[in-house]
Amino acid sequence: MDLTVTAALPALPAIEPGWQRALRADRGLLFDIHHAIGGPFHVVHPPRFAANLRAFQDVLTRHEVRGQVYYGKKANKAGCWLAVAADLDAGVDVASEPELVHALAHGVRGRDIGVTGAAKTDALLRLAARHGCLVAIDALDELERAAEIARTAGRLRILLRRLPPGAPHSRFGSSDADLERALDRCVELREHLELTGFSFHLDGYAVAPRAALAHDTIEWCTRARVRGLPATAISIGGGFACRYLRDEDWAAFTRDRRDDWFHAGRQFEKFYPYAQDPTGAAMLDAVLTEQFRGRTLAERLRTADIALLLEPGRALLIDAGFTVFPVLGFKQNADYGITTAHGLSMSVSEQWKGSEFLPDPVLIPRIADPEARPVASCVGGASCMEYDVLTWRKVVLSQRPRPGDLLLYPNTAGYQMDKNESGFHQLPLPPKIVVTGAEARWQWRLDR
Ligand SMILES: *Cc1c(COP(=O)(O)O)cnc(C)c1O
Repeated sequence: MDLTVTAALPALPAIEPGWQRALRADRGLLFDIHHAIGGPFHVVHPPRFAANLRAFQDVLTRHEVRGQVYYGKKANKAGCWLAVAADLDAGVDVASEPELVHALAHGVRGRDIGVTGAAKTDALLRLAARHGCLVAIDALDELERAAEIARTAGRLRILLRRLPPGAPHSRFGSSDADLERALDRCVELREHLELTGFSFHLDGYAVAPRAALAHDTIEWCTRARVRGLPATAISIGGGFACRYLRDEDWAAFTRDRRDDWFHAGRQFEKFYPYAQDPTGAAMLDAVLTEQFRGRTLAERLRTADIALLLEPGRALLIDAGFTVFPVLGFKQNADYGITTAHGLSMSVSEQWKGSEFLPDPVLIPRIADPEARPVASCVGGASCMEYDVLTWRKVVLSQRPRPGDLLLYPNTAGYQMDKNESGFHQLPLPPKIVVTGAEARWQWRLDR
């Protein structure tokens, strides 16, 4: 291998959480799991999810703001997160009947389940009413349908979802004119609908627009209260920023990026912002301290006795899991190689949005070769499709990958693992392995 090639390529090492470093140091464990599973697998670590969740709850407590954190469930299908949410009295945000039932089955109470998504099915609305879930109503016709179902299924707790004024082309939420009309209907239908408050969910990861819209949404609670409706909460949705890479690595990559860093000169329009600040709970803190006419959001929520609801998905899963693909083969094509992984790129969902999951995969050789020299490689999946590529970028691996080695994709729990997975080629979906520490050793089990 020409060392000048590997030296010219950017390194994007993932920031590695302590539990993952410790687990990797236990050299046999991942190979044992691979031996048992016989194919690709995901490793998930609920204690990290618990720590991420507690950090959000602590910010609310510190600001003396009433509230609830609903885990945005679509980001990962594992059941282990739901049990953690239940244990910590947190909520879960769902958008389908199977998601709602899954949350109940793992001990989350109906009153701690939020139901979002565009127009909900009648069956989902009925289930939500029976279990006392909180439903974000997206449009006027859905409000009427919800009231009709609540007549028989029981009074339904609702939020009215706002179309963000800064995102007029979003297909979610109701315009201000429709919200006014909805308030009138909520007064008329109060026997069947309890207006808990208002909600929104913004694209992007910026603090200021969330804080501004939250301040503005408090005004809607005031308007509703004037009409005698409870309006005791606002939900600011998800979209809390996450960090995967160090600032300097990310800055160098975005500054110097060249098409020939990628297999076949592949071009990308957009990447997730892999290095951001503030992130997670610190971002919530920043939202709560953002001022409007001299008062912070936290002060206004306390004064008006309004609860703050949030729906983080990715930010609860950050540093809480990774994916392991066994290596099937490697061939040197030009000045870089192609590694073929046992698995499909559908298990790295970012590859299916015309983008790329950029943190460096890490080669875990079955036999470490002290003489080994680094190689540059892209990574393909085990299907017959040219576009089934896990990593288009030519990444530097510590040595030439051999069959039986493992390729670890770090930090995949949020949206990568299972959002787009399919049983293409009749290949089974990679199982999720829940790894926890007990009595100074690791224990692992299959997720239920
Ligand atoms: C997807 C989604 C979330 C979670 O978003 P993250 O970016 O993962 O935090 C929360 N609320 C709603 C309504 C969503 O659609």
